Amino acid sequence: MAEQRLRVLVFGAHPDDCDFTAGGVAALYARQGHQVLFISVTNGDAGHHEVGGARLAQRRRAEATAAGAMIGIRYELLDIHDGELLPTLENRRRMIELIRTFRPDLIMSPRPNDYHPDHRYTAQLIQDAAYMVTVPNAVAFSKHLSVDPVIVYVSDTFKRPYPFTPDLVVAIDDVVEQKVDLLDCHISQVYEWLPYNGRYLDQVPTGPAARRVWLRQYMDARMRRDADRYRDLLIARYGEQAGRAVRYAEAFEGCEYGAPLTEQNIGRLFPF
Ligand SMILES: [Zn+2]
Repeated sequence: MAEQRLRVLVFGAHPDDCDFTAGGVAALYARQGHQVLFISVTNGDAGHHEVGGARLAQRRRAEATAAGAMIGIRYELLDIHDGELLPTLENRRRMIELIRTFRPDLIMSPRPNDYHPDHRYTAQLIQDAAYMVTVPNAVAFSKHLSVDPVIVYVSDTFKRPYPFTPDLVVAIDDVVEQKVDLLDCHISQVYEWLPYNGRYLDQVPTGPAARRVWLRQYMDARMRRDADRYRDLLIARYGEQAGRAVRYAEAFEGCEYGAPLTEQNIGRLFPF
């Protein structure tokens, strides 16, 4: 196992982004003994309507740690203010060092066209680091990588300049409850801030058990979205019968700035 153990680095801008976009595959990797690291590029300290600053950042770090523990992966937050991420040279250097230290086989990233500036600049920073991680004279005191990792984008619904166009779709039916468990750890988000911001706070029940039931129901359509809109890719991957039966999925699109996402790479990097 040690030889084939994959190293998967998932980036989000905020502490809960990785869970929404790749929580299912992360649980699948972890179950097979692969190493997954979730990184939130900001500390999440703007994601609430009643608290902020250091108190919120600490609360969100604790939530992220709990989520990581739920499936046995590491979850780290960079101490950059939420809502203020910029694709600076300083942050690019940080990203290069971070990628070199973890030595991922696979990186997951948001796309650079997205409603949230932090999401856009997270994507930009990963793109800016993508080639430079192999250049010895860039950030010279950290050991460069000999080969680029494969980079994939996680799914979204934005249409301009072009809609998300997946190269593969992974069924997450077996781990869908674990994905909800991950999200359930982000109490400040899924039960407080997001409902407040989306004006559905009155729908959220009180009490841990009742709200977990509500969250499972609330997330159902969203977790079905990629299974329904990319059914043909599920059938191509799992065969006619199994592909049609998939209910929940996560989808990924190769980024052309990393190593190429060939059929062979897909087989090696998505072994489920
Ligand atoms: Zn976010």
